[in-house]
Amino acid sequence: TNGMNGTNSTNGTNGHYESNGFASRGRLAGKNAIITGAAGSGIGLETTILFLREGASVMMCDISEPALAKAVIKAKDLSPHMTGKIATAKCDVAKEADVQAVVEQLDAWGGVDVMFNNAGIMHGDDADAIDTPEKIWDLTQAINVKGVWYGSKHAILSLRRHHKTVGSIINTASVVALVGSATPQLAYTASKGAVMAMTRELAIVHAREGYRFNALCPAPLNTPLLQDWLGDDAEKRHRREIHFPTGRFGEAIELAQAVLFLASDESSFVNGTDFVVDGGMTRAYVTPE
Ligand code: NAD
Repeated sequence: TNGMNGTNSTNGTNGHYESNGFASRGRLAGKNAIITGAAGSGIGLETTILFLREGASVMMCDISEPALAKAVIKAKDLSPHMTGKIATAKCDVAKEADVQAVVEQLDAWGGVDVMFNNAGIMHGDDADAIDTPEKIWDLTQAINVKGVWYGSKHAILSLRRHHKTVGSIINTASVVALVGSATPQLAYTASKGAVMAMTRELAIVHAREGYRFNALCPAPLNTPLLQDWLGDDAEKRHRREIHFPTGRFGEAIELAQAVLFLASDESSFVNGTDFVVDGGMTRAYVTPE
């Protein structure tokens, strides 16, 4: 006779995978995700690709339309077996109306399950207490802090609208929210401290609704954002590399793997953390020679 669940137990390996949705459909199967700052060549794009490979539907958001057009092609090329949907939207996270519109677009997909508030800037004119221009301070807080607030707010509203009891919001902070840096970018540092504190409070307030909030804390990465700025200035590079026990910067994909875990139900009891992905940098006193 057929099994109660209609699967044929004599199918061997194929039967096993067909009856095991988790193994065959991916770690984010059926989840709808929004990723902001998805069009850079860093964390957002790598996360988009991993999410697609793991069965999620992904809405890629960015302030730059040309960058989005390129990024979506790359994401599709590198996820040939994707089973979810993919879409793009121009969105300035510092504008609440933009964020709200993007989140509401996902009502047609069944609402948001995962919100990755990843967009952020580190402005070239950001400096120390004396030299940071006020307009750079305000711009940095508008994107890095208000953007995360708006993304969190509208994700919560979407989760509630669709009567969801599970949701994961991941907000990108930085190791500079944990350790001080002698190479100052004061507006950026202040903004990432705000992201971390805000994320922790959101995690506590919404815990009984089933909505988890975690802050991602990357160390300096081998992405254009930092590497273009360092260029071939060996001394400037060494000034940073020396603080890594591993002797190297992180890679965007190593952050994307952490985001995948935080987004999936595998991390169901992980809430309110400062999720540090830094090769041990913030735990080091002196580093190996
Ligand atoms: P990236 O520059 O590759 O990506 C950032 C993306 O955000 C870009 O595509 C940019 O167009 C977009 N963006 C900028 N302003 C926006 C706005 N107002 N609205 C929507 N999108 C906007 O950078 P990345 O290195 O992948 O950084 C992603 C996140 O990680 C940022 O929050 C950054 O602060 C953080 N971070 C990066 C590093 C690092 O070394 N790269 C270290 C710690 C934290």
